[in-house]
Amino acid sequence: MTQSSDPTAHWQQQDADHHLHPFGDSGAIANEGARIITKASGVTVWDSNGRAYLDAFAGLWCVNLGYGRQELVEAARRQMSELPYYNLFFKTATPPVTELSAALADIAPPHINHTFFTNSGSEANDTVFRMVRRYWDIKGQPSKKTIIGRHNGYHGSTVAGASLGGMKPMHAQGDLPITGVAHIRQPYWFGEGGDLSPDEFGLVAAQALEEKILELGADNVAAFIAEPIQGAGGIIIPPATYWPEIQRIVRQYNILLVADEVICGFGRTGEWFGCDTFDIEADLMPIAKGLSSGYLPIGGVMVSDGVAEVLKSGGEFHHGFTYSGHPVSAAVALENLRILRTEGIIDRVKAETAPYMQSQLRTLADHPLVGEVRGVGMLGAVELVQDKASRRRYADEGQTGTVCRDKALEEGLILRATGDTMLMSPPLVIHRAEIDELVAKTRQALDNTLAAL
Ligand SMILES: *Cc1c(COP(=O)(O)O)cnc(C)c1O
Repeated sequence: MTQSSDPTAHWQQQDADHHLHPFGDSGAIANEGARIITKASGVTVWDSNGRAYLDAFAGLWCVNLGYGRQELVEAARRQMSELPYYNLFFKTATPPVTELSAALADIAPPHINHTFFTNSGSEANDTVFRMVRRYWDIKGQPSKKTIIGRHNGYHGSTVAGASLGGMKPMHAQGDLPITGVAHIRQPYWFGEGGDLSPDEFGLVAAQALEEKILELGADNVAAFIAEPIQGAGGIIIPPATYWPEIQRIVRQYNILLVADEVICGFGRTGEWFGCDTFDIEADLMPIAKGLSSGYLPIGGVMVSDGVAEVLKSGGEFHHGFTYSGHPVSAAVALENLRILRTEGIIDRVKAETAPYMQSQLRTLADHPLVGEVRGVGMLGAVELVQDKASRRRYADEGQTGTVCRDKALEEGLILRATGDTMLMSPPLVIHRAEIDELVAKTRQALDNTLAAL
């Protein structure tokens, strides 16, 4: 990696010498050389050697419109020359932010009509942390402080986000979770359902919330936070019994329900929000990722009329970010929503491309390595196992998934592995022919993985 005439070697050297990677082993990457991605169009990304990859992961669950949409570029350019920055503190707003707030209210479930803006999903969940406590304070119930999350949930990587999430490797670094957070089991039937049917298991997993509330005392619990479908945890789709039981419990014990829509939002499940797909009535919905199709950073917390009314009655909320509702990000998000709407992209996902992708993915179920194929909308997961009938995995969990991910890359396909679960979340604009390619390459990667074991 010393010939600086080779641009890839040059960038890899700079990366090794000066860049610390998010969610990466920077020491190992420095030795191997990072993959350098240089351009993208549609559902394809190219590396610095000119190699093309079908991006079945939409960047990081976010490039819902696909790459290269010039309308988003133009929206950013226009806003940047008109008003590149202004803050929203001190009684101020900007047109892109008011327009985006109204557009979000339009697409959200009817009882959700307000948004607080952030720059990421993690900041959205930090905001959730402060907002739900503020809510109960204003209501005169300040003891309601604890937030219950789930093991293997993901809510971002800031101190609050990582604490609300239930990722063991994250908790192990730096004494997380912080106080005031508790966790319950996840509704992961394939991994933890044992001999129960999925529906029986869904009830058991939901009732863990009731047990935790009773243990902590409902007067001490502020909220329950969960992703409608766990994304980073492995595209874990709860059994049909799960969400209705959760809804009963949060109502019965007067607990706020936070549905983390950072992945599920903006069409990923075939509806605008995961809450629409699962009929969840949330009090707060953190959003990010697909809100701008990843073209610029923006996130937020959408809140119900009930929560908004309380917050508006409570005086100043001492919380916000310099870049809350950055006007350029807001303008791009607004244009992103406009395109999703006017091109009927989510309707097409629901009616055509998601059913097609799901049925094609299920043809992989007969593969000897595959224990389960599941998915909703433009989310798909393939479980790799040693024994199909007992759902038993290979001993060194995570190894097989890593091999399969690398085999997929060799085929020119970007998948992600969580443990031994292969994940996909392609741009919503993916066509049938590209879905065929995705599935064919996945099958080839599975064959090559099996051969390598
Ligand atoms: C990605 C993600 C986050 C964190 O978003 P960032 O923009 O990476 O901070 C939070 N919640 C869920 C469900 C996510 O998938």
